[in-house]
Amino acid sequence: MTIANCKLQIEEEAARKIPYGRQTVSEEDIQAVVDVLRGDWLTTGPTVERFERAFARYTRAAEAVAVSSGTAALHAAMFAIGIGPGDEVIVPAMTFAATANCVVFQGATPLFADVDPHTLLLGPAQAEARITPRTRAIAAVDYAGQPCDYAALRTLAIEHGLALVSDASHSLGACDGGSPVGSLADLSTFSLHAVKPITTGEGGMVTTNDPVLAERMRRFRNHGFTADHRQRARAGSWFYEMTELGYNYRLTDFQCALGLSQLPQLDARIARRREIAARYDRAFAQLPGVEPLGLRQGASHGRHLYVVRLDRDALGVDRDRVFQRMRRAGIGVGVHYIPVHLHPFYRRRFATAEGDCPVAEAAYDEILSLPIFPALTDRDVDWVIACLSAACGLATRKPSNP
Ligand SMILES: *Cc1c(COP(=O)(O)O)cnc(C)c1O
Repeated sequence: MTIANCKLQIEEEAARKIPYGRQTVSEEDIQAVVDVLRGDWLTTGPTVERFERAFARYTRAAEAVAVSSGTAALHAAMFAIGIGPGDEVIVPAMTFAATANCVVFQGATPLFADVDPHTLLLGPAQAEARITPRTRAIAAVDYAGQPCDYAALRTLAIEHGLALVSDASHSLGACDGGSPVGSLADLSTFSLHAVKPITTGEGGMVTTNDPVLAERMRRFRNHGFTADHRQRARAGSWFYEMTELGYNYRLTDFQCALGLSQLPQLDARIARRREIAARYDRAFAQLPGVEPLGLRQGASHGRHLYVVRLDRDALGVDRDRVFQRMRRAGIGVGVHYIPVHLHPFYRRRFATAEGDCPVAEAAYDEILSLPIFPALTDRDVDWVIACLSAACGLATRKPSNP
């Protein structure tokens, strides 16, 4: 290779932009959506039910209820278990704001619990520390795609008469103790947003084994009406009543066609995510100061996010500086998440403050999410590793050639 060629290759590498996440949509997916668009039902039709049944089968839950987003799924779950004014729900500080917002939608109070320092997951000890006589539920979050210890959380929930909700937006396809996410809590909620394990563009799902809760959520997504128009058609009647205050949280048939087509590809996608994570793990074992998050015994990880903690003392450079350097190099790094209790809304409305959840707050200063998605190539991963080493001021091994 000539020097000019070599220089060109380096410039090409540097010009490459790598996002932190990206959807995978196949030609079959597109065809499935087009087929539904040419059919009779754009919404509230048979493809919604087919997707729900396939999703329930995959997660080994009795029921799945499709809704318009992961946030709607969380809202429907809080509605179904009867959360209302005066109630409290325990929510980990390290999550996306929607996990707590859905509690506020119902006029209740989120109680922010701290997380385990190694996994950043809500554990039974952190949840128990927040329980009061007004507490009605625990909303656990499978942060980064790793399931929480649901056996232990369930024991705690039963002991205190609490409902157990899982925000499984990151962990579709993962397992705990051999059981799939979706079957581990009273209600499990999923996001089908573009960056999530499978997507319908925007969309969500709730799984449960309780048909009464499922029926309540079906009404909730449809304005609170007792019967949808197909049930009325079957009954030959125009009559419907609004028994509860519901919303329009329906998911369309063509979105469900996309989800239905994506679901069989999920396991292969997770397998690729695990290969990428293993490649990062091997590299960072050699880089002191760059620490991947800990793994839970007995859980399989969906690898939705790949999060490292950057030890400022060991590296002599802080996360914000590394973040800027990575972005400048065209690497789409992220920070997941600002602890929810530090958002101005929560400080103002619920008087939350720094110091409420010290483990989550300390993690927030150090965490960086690196690109991970099924289409990411080994060459891309090696480039991210090389850029991160350089951004941390560490001696870098040359990125391996494709
Ligand atoms: C994405 C996400 C949500 C919200 O899902 P939307 O589909 O964007 O409404 C909720 N909780 C967590 C943990 C998420 O990552």
